[in-house]
Amino acid sequence: MANCEFLTKCPFFNNKLKNMPTAADTMKNIYCRWNFIKCARYKVAIVLGSEEVPSNLFPRDTVRAEKILAQLSQK
Ligand code: SF4
Repeated sequence: MANCEFLTKCPFFNNKLKNMPTAADTMKNIYCRWNFIKCARYKVAIVLGSEEVPSNLFPRDTVRAEKILAQLSQK
C-alpha cells in the first residue's frame, strides 16, 4: 500500500498527541506508511473529516472508531 493521505496534517503522525505510545514509530510504519485503511483515525477521518478525529484516538482503537461511526449512522 501507500502512504496515508492524512500524513502531513495528522497529529498522531506528527507527534502532536498527548500520551504518544512508545511504539509510535512502529505504528507509523504499520499504519501510516503501509496499511492506513486499518487505522482507527483514518476510518473516522475519511467519513467525518480529519478535524473531527478525537485527539485521544490512536490507530489501534478500531473498536472505538467503529462506535463513533455507528453513532453517526443512528442520527
Ligand atoms: S495515524 Fe492514521 S490517519 Fe493518521 S497518518 Fe497514520 S494512518 Fe493516517
